[in-house]
Amino acid sequence: MKKRHVSVSGVRLKFASAHMATLGNELEPLHGHNYSVSVKVEGTLSNDYWVIDFSKIKSITRNICDRLDHKFLLQAKSNLLSSTLEKETWSLSFGSRIYQFPQEDVAVLDIENSTAELLAEWICHQIDQELFNSKQTNINLITVEVEEMPGQSGGFQLERSLVED
Ligand SMILES: [Zn+2]
Repeated sequence: MKKRHVSVSGVRLKFASAHMATLGNELEPLHGHNYSVSVKVEGTLSNDYWVIDFSKIKSITRNICDRLDHKFLLQAKSNLLSSTLEKETWSLSFGSRIYQFPQEDVAVLDIENSTAELLAEWICHQIDQELFNSKQTNINLITVEVEEMPGQSGGFQLERSLVED
């Protein structure tokens, strides 16, 4: 089976967000990045010789970026940073440090840490779900790269099982 791929990246596949990752037993200071996302999908060609319409994979990725843009990225599965939601306010605590954020300013992510690697994995799963919802069954590999700053990125690759009609 011949496999082809398409890749997208660009000015609108970005999000500007705040986070604090943990490293060992430390918590980074609160800071932010202008993240850039690039996505590669690999699969078989449709009858009209497409892997996927560029505009479709771009718009899927852009919508996911929009959910993260101008938010605090909360690693809700962290064992080190505890987080509780009460009265539309998130309270985060780490030792003696306590942070509070309005609920609307927080993107709650089911990840253990807000590293570029895990952000890439989270985005990859969201793309997979969107492709599933839109019955895009010819794609068997999704690769997501999340760049925190130029020359510094983390990635994730997800293999999908090809479902033939
Ligand atoms: Zn950072």
